[in-house]
Amino acid sequence: MAKIQMKTPLVEMDGDEMTRIMWQMIKDELLLPYIDLKTEYYDLGLEYRNQTDDQVTIDSAEATKKYGVAVKCATITPNAARMSEYDLKEMWKSPNGTIRAALDGTVFRTPIQVKGIEPCVKNWEKPITLARHAYGDVYKNTEIKVPGAGKAELVYTAEDGTVIREIIHEFDGPGILQGIHNTDRSITSFARACFSYALDTKQDLWFATKDTISKKYDHNFKDIFQEIYETEYKEKFEAAGLEYFYTLIDDAVARVMKTRGGFIWACKNYDGDVMSDMVSSACGSLAMMTSVLVSPDGVYEYEAAHGTVQRHYYKHLEGEETSTNSVATIFAWTGALRKRGELDGIPELAEFADKLERAVLQTIEEGRMTKDLALITSLSGVTVLNTLDFIRAVRETMETM
Ligand code: NAP
Ligand code: MG
Repeated sequence: MAKIQMKTPLVEMDGDEMTRIMWQMIKDELLLPYIDLKTEYYDLGLEYRNQTDDQVTIDSAEATKKYGVAVKCATITPNAARMSEYDLKEMWKSPNGTIRAALDGTVFRTPIQVKGIEPCVKNWEKPITLARHAYGDVYKNTEIKVPGAGKAELVYTAEDGTVIREIIHEFDGPGILQGIHNTDRSITSFARACFSYALDTKQDLWFATKDTISKKYDHNFKDIFQEIYETEYKEKFEAAGLEYFYTLIDDAVARVMKTRGGFIWACKNYDGDVMSDMVSSACGSLAMMTSVLVSPDGVYEYEAAHGTVQRHYYKHLEGEETSTNSVATIFAWTGALRKRGELDGIPELAEFADKLERAVLQTIEEGRMTKDLALITSLSGVTVLNTLDFIRAVRETMETM
């Protein structure tokens, strides 16, 4: 059969450790035999990031803006241990942080649901997509460890010199302080990304903050969402039969447990970090969670939600067999290929992505899976496959379809 032809290249961001190993296997076994794969390749592996003073990450983000669709492998965010392990010139920033900042995007994470791996929350019939605001708050904080008694103030100086000053606390002994911020511009594009994605995927949108306690900070999020909804999206939502629902974060958490799923839950940065881990672990495994960064001007970057699976990589380096789950990384590729197909008008490419996803699910449903899933499946008599054999099993399934 002739290979599927592509028009525009995908921006391919390679990564680190076990996911880098799987990246190559996925390309060799599942993509290159069927697609005349056109990619613009960026090596975001830590070694090359260090060599290029992290310029490669910036270049890959720029390329993503140019072409519109990227697929990214998990990458190491350096810490002290990595400094010596990779002999780094600097403790380079998280590539995901750099890319998010460049694209000003919102991250949507959706569990991959499959028969045999049922969510712990039994009434979750459909996946819940988490939309995490990826800018500011505690992730861009300024902190002080207060040494002793003294006065802490919050001070803003406008360009014209006007000062706004609030007392935070009069300390009578040691303590801690934290300054956080966000911008109307970032919150506005977060809101637009959420409303657009909800329309795109035909799902209701929930949003929640702690606006009763945080009467200015969190309330600002609530107000911006409401205004954007009313001025830009209300009619479209009503026409599509969709709902925008705002509530308090604690009410949202309680209600989510009772729903049947199938909606988008927009969260502030920290809530999204924590709640996406909760939703994914309730749905089985971090390795069964897709992640897409959507920018307000319609640029998409697909990845897996998990990290580089370091522990498995060290086993792999020792020559031991690994059983690392490649599902989320495969779905990153299919997400990117489907979007490329849609944008370039290549239905075969989108159909291929659908078929590959079905092959992955069918393989698992037939009882062939990696160890992480075998430990939690409700299916009996399953076969545990190693990393490469699972990918080959998916290929076999696809060949029979
Ligand atoms: P991790 O790579 O997500 O792995 C944590 C544990 O979760 C693994 O040890 C494994 O458990 C399980 N796991 C995760 N993905 C799996 C998969 N595909 N198949 C099977 N099991 C899987 O997180 P980490 O070990 O905390 O971080 C490792 C590196 O990844 C760090 O350098 C971090 O900076 C980076 N990271 C990158 C991203 C990203 O690029 N998006 C995100 C998070 C972390 P068992 O060991 O029990 O089998
Ligand atoms: Mg987290």
